Amino acid sequence: MYYNEKVVRDSPLAVRMSSFLYRLERWVRTRVRFAYYHAVHRLPATAIRTWQDSRLQDLVRHAVRNVPIWATIFEGAGLRARSFRGLIDLPKIPATGKETFIGRIAEEYIDSSRNIFTRWKTTSGTSGKPFTFLPGRNASSGHFTDFACYRFLVWNGLPLRKIATTKVARIKIRAISSTYRAFIPVSDFQSDPEKVYRQLVEYGPTILDTYTSILLDLAKMAGSGTLPLLRVQYAVSFGEMLSPASRHFIEQNLGCRVYDRYGTEEMGVIGLECSQHNGFHIHSESVVIEVTDDSFVPLPPGSYGRILATDLLNYNMPLIRYDTGDHGILDTTPCACGLETPRIWIEGRYSASLSFASGRRIHHLEFDGALDGFMNAILQYQVAKKSEEEVEIRIVPDATFESGMRDKIKESIRELVGETVAVRILPVTSISRMPRGKSQIVVDETATEPTAPLSS
Ligand SMILES: [Zn+2]
Repeated sequence: MYYNEKVVRDSPLAVRMSSFLYRLERWVRTRVRFAYYHAVHRLPATAIRTWQDSRLQDLVRHAVRNVPIWATIFEGAGLRARSFRGLIDLPKIPATGKETFIGRIAEEYIDSSRNIFTRWKTTSGTSGKPFTFLPGRNASSGHFTDFACYRFLVWNGLPLRKIATTKVARIKIRAISSTYRAFIPVSDFQSDPEKVYRQLVEYGPTILDTYTSILLDLAKMAGSGTLPLLRVQYAVSFGEMLSPASRHFIEQNLGCRVYDRYGTEEMGVIGLECSQHNGFHIHSESVVIEVTDDSFVPLPPGSYGRILATDLLNYNMPLIRYDTGDHGILDTTPCACGLETPRIWIEGRYSASLSFASGRRIHHLEFDGALDGFMNAILQYQVAKKSEEEVEIRIVPDATFESGMRDKIKESIRELVGETVAVRILPVTSISRMPRGKSQIVVDETATEPTAPLSS
């Protein structure tokens, strides 16, 4: 009898069975994994490092065996996966970034050993270069994503199982909706903020989770006295700079505590504040963070540098020593809250800068530095290049802002941009956002291409 292997292999039933078994295996494995993964970041520092060593060994061996580009990278660097020891050997691996993957066919950089059912994602084009990537399997598990976003609840004493039934309202680009998770698209908020505000009042979330600038807008509406009062227990902010004044303003007006978090689109949430609100505690079960110089050589704890991340959970498309584009400081000393997982402080994205005809390129951190002394009285700011000879600093002043500060800010910015650039200080009530919902710290309004936002 004629036997057609291809027909058997690709028959719809076989495909469905394969998909079903994969999903079943994933369901079981995800639950078993979560049971011990969630405890890792609360272990003593030495235990966390031991755990990361073994996860890194496993990831590297998998990557070199099953992902062609990683075999090439290891060979090129004269490294062998079998003798790779973990954290101590990590800096020997060449750093990677979007550029490592853009322009290649997917087969070169994804796991070729099995069928993958995870959905591809694309990062926003506003960060400069649109980038399509394949997240790890856990990215689609509610257990993992909830715990990544809201584990501070557990630190504050809530039983783990109750995270799932804590009411969360999220204003984001995309998210899921369920009884305990209200998702409101950013576009809804952009078109009718008051309607969204009233929806939130009616829903009554425990946690309000959205971009910092949207939290600020909602806090303003809550403080206006003309709308019903919106009260939440926690506001979780992300994606933008959170100044001390903004934090205070949001907490006062929404009657809440603000928990800031840090993440990238490729890795998801990387770290979260604890009740000390002093840096982001790294999710060490999911990610290894290094702070390096511009040659990707690790710097001692406490130094300022590039942030590289290794995703310990993404076996679909291994991201190892991946340049996040962010800069910051890593500290390994234990926190007053008792957690020994390291903390990072993010100081911004290197790609956001403005240059003027005078020839000088000014990084947004320099603007940040120039405004540093005023941030207790500024809720938000934006630096806009209007022309080669003019820069506009838009500030959302706090109630404590004094008129004299305007001249001082002007002076401080003038020192930075030089005599040839006219400086205009413009108090505004809010900073306009990008179509995807984030506001930008620096904008080049002479350019046709949008410049990069602060952080994802
Ligand atoms: Zn802490």
